[in-house]
Amino acid sequence: MVARRDSALGEQGVGGGKKTAKAAGKAPVEKRASAKKAAKKATETAAKKAAPVRKAAAVKKAVVAPEKASAPVKKASATKKVAPKPPRNESQTALVRRARRINRELAEVFPYAHPELDFENPFQLIVATVLSAQTTDLRVNQTTPALFAKYPTPEDLAAANPEEVEEILRPTGFFRAKTKSVIGLSKALVENFGGEVPGRLDDLVTLPGVGRKTAFVVLGNAFGRPGITADTHFMRLVRRWQWTDETDPDKIEAAVSALFPKSDWTDLSHHVIWHGRRICHARKPACGACPIAPLCPAYGEGETDPEKAQKLLKYEKGGFPGQRLNPPQAYLDAGGKAAPPLGATG
Ligand code: SF4
Repeated sequence: MVARRDSALGEQGVGGGKKTAKAAGKAPVEKRASAKKAAKKATETAAKKAAPVRKAAAVKKAVVAPEKASAPVKKASATKKVAPKPPRNESQTALVRRARRINRELAEVFPYAHPELDFENPFQLIVATVLSAQTTDLRVNQTTPALFAKYPTPEDLAAANPEEVEEILRPTGFFRAKTKSVIGLSKALVENFGGEVPGRLDDLVTLPGVGRKTAFVVLGNAFGRPGITADTHFMRLVRRWQWTDETDPDKIEAAVSALFPKSDWTDLSHHVIWHGRRICHARKPACGACPIAPLCPAYGEGETDPEKAQKLLKYEKGGFPGQRLNPPQAYLDAGGKAAPPLGATG
């Protein structure tokens, strides 16, 4: 199986609205107001004092503040000085609390987070996810319309001329291997599953080119079954946050899944991946513009100057288009912009 760089891990089309409603219902009004007040105080404290490590506890407590999730694309707050949290020797209970707090904060920042692969059915999602290895979801989204127009079903793709598929997939890189994968995958769907994508993990991982990560993308987003998507962003961020020291994707998935209720797994994956793509980048995390800086032990690993950090933000957080050509309405409502199709200029 080909290794992934920005593996898409997409899902279904219109998840944003659901999330918004869910997040909006999180805290009673009074509770939210007091949390908000406390968060404001904490931000002022952190900004004024460059608090020493001991004061971090106060900051941590205060930054709960789930606000309304229906707000338009929330700007990543410019954080001046933030005391890094020292989670070494953190108890399991404290870790669970901090991890869930980070997820709640991210749900506020990305209430419209959704799969970034365009798809209309499980077959399109599984193919798009396989194609997302070693490229961006944007590139896949620009490529799949032509593929699915010509080969709309597993039967069509299973019977395709490989050279013609290669031509279509060329822009995604590794196009020969990917052609082989998607044709092989389609044949297996036709031969073993009646031309339908199965909705069980054990069945999905028997398909050529489909590992646990791809399987969970499909389960979580095409079948509504909770799954953790341990892609490159997810693995990088959970290690930065010291949720786990593991490096193996399956072990990371197991460690993180133990910190959250099952019902949170799919949305958690979106929040973390979106944060990794927009703010907490591999080489230059935008710490100075990071909304969860007070909860992050790796604060300072990236740019801490708020103005410079702001310039590192990507996609809608930086004022640019997103990755989907057909994003969910909730994303557009929040101020997000659709990606341009392949070959578009300007
Ligand atoms: S951007 Fe910086 S502060 Fe924010 S999560 Fe990443 S490493 Fe932590």
